[in-house]
Amino acid sequence: MPAPASIPALPRDLLIGGRLVLGEGPTEAIVNPATGELLSALAEASLDQVETAVLGAQRAFAGWSRTTPAQRATALLAIADAIDARADDLARLEALNCGKPFHLALQDDLPAASDVFRFFAGAVRCQQGQLAGEYVPGHTSMVRRDPVGVVASIAPWNYPLMMAAWKIAPALAAGNTLVFKPSEHTPLSILALAPVLAEILPPGVINILCGGGDGVGSQLVGHPKVRLVSLTGDIVTGQKILQSAARTLKRTHLELGGKAPVIVCDDADLDAVIEGVRTHGYYNAGQDCTAACRLYVQAGIHDRLLGRLGEAVASLRFAQRRDQDNEIGPLISARQRDRVASFVERALSQPHIERITGAAVHSGPGFYYQPTLLAGCRQSDEIVQREVFGPVVTVTRFDELEQAVEWANDSEYGLASSVWTQNLDKALQVAARLQYGCTWINTHFMLASEMPHGGLKRSGYGKDLSSDSLQDYSVVRHIMARHGSLP
Ligand code: NAD
Repeated sequence: MPAPASIPALPRDLLIGGRLVLGEGPTEAIVNPATGELLSALAEASLDQVETAVLGAQRAFAGWSRTTPAQRATALLAIADAIDARADDLARLEALNCGKPFHLALQDDLPAASDVFRFFAGAVRCQQGQLAGEYVPGHTSMVRRDPVGVVASIAPWNYPLMMAAWKIAPALAAGNTLVFKPSEHTPLSILALAPVLAEILPPGVINILCGGGDGVGSQLVGHPKVRLVSLTGDIVTGQKILQSAARTLKRTHLELGGKAPVIVCDDADLDAVIEGVRTHGYYNAGQDCTAACRLYVQAGIHDRLLGRLGEAVASLRFAQRRDQDNEIGPLISARQRDRVASFVERALSQPHIERITGAAVHSGPGFYYQPTLLAGCRQSDEIVQREVFGPVVTVTRFDELEQAVEWANDSEYGLASSVWTQNLDKALQVAARLQYGCTWINTHFMLASEMPHGGLKRSGYGKDLSSDSLQDYSVVRHIMARHGSLP
């Protein structure tokens, strides 16, 4: 699946202390997952460069933390405009680096990224809190929200620029300075934006370092001058970061995996469910922590749904020559594709699980895996319990709604969920009982910059988007003044 039209020059420079410099560490192979071709051998940051970046961010903190919300908003709006102005090039890089269809990156990822900068530009100017007043006689108390300090932000590979926006915008808006590390697989779009960030922001306010988790990532997490680590990634990575951060008592903001339950009641609109699962179960090849991947379908609608959903999933288009003809892309790497394949193999070795469609590696170049639908799955099956992070959806049948809610909640994950029924009373009752950061009713996967996104249980506890995120990237402080009282 070649990216259409001309491909922008591949960026290579890191951003450290306001300067664009080549990495001086080991090189990392950057591959196009749609073809398997090597795009670039990118030099990562060296240990010395990580040190320089953190110290530069620390120096820049003194000035940036004292800017007004209006000054920071002006910078964020300029970044949003710069993203929009370069949307084509950034989307091409995103397509090249992730293998995802260019038209979808342009239509979905890019506007979402710039909107997040615009939202936080507004949100930081109208924060709310407790009223100042005399809570102790003769003393006036007031509450401030101040930045935390140097933030290390560590991102995954599924939506590189969008994840960067989710992390960079609230941290900067709140007055922090930042060292941002993209996934070692997908650094290109944020590196392409680095010169723009260097122009808009004072030196050191944002630093962009490439590197792997064990090298640059763990050095950042362990650095004593970093005050907050923000991660979107795997549960195991979150656990490692917590252990390391404990040594210097850092704050952490963790957005970890998901295994979203989708409860389909007998009275659901069948067409809407089929369209919804076809789209939101397989979008981005299922590499999405909110993917609609764990269906619980009530007995009365189960068989009708299965027949039609199988056909709908089998019709998903991928690995086509023309970009416009693709609905999903490949997995990010051969390793991730093989991991997905082994989950499905283990599932199908169970006699009660039935393959409805897919369940094979796509023959041909790239790291594609066929969109897969598995039925007859049981609650205790590995494929129902564990995050696959690929284009695989399971179906489990239920009789009583009570049972579906219990199964939906019987998960280590707690990020996203949905319920599908034409009875709003029922939908609201189920939504109230689901232990997930988000529950959609008759839809799935829809995000709004104004609304919080984040998990419960092992899906983590950091909130992205919304003014809740601004709170995560700031600390609340109490100022109290003693004064006399007028007679
Ligand atoms: P990952 O945990 O392997 O990597 C995420 C980032 O952490 C990368 O930048 C990586 O280099 C870094 N990292 C790895 N080990 C590290 C360490 N010891 N110290 C510091 N940094 C380290 O995750 P991934 O494979 O890139 O992304 C997929 C995972 O992310 C999935 O589990 C998915 O559900 C999750 N995810 C969650 C959300 C959410 O909003 N909750 C969004 C997207 C992805």
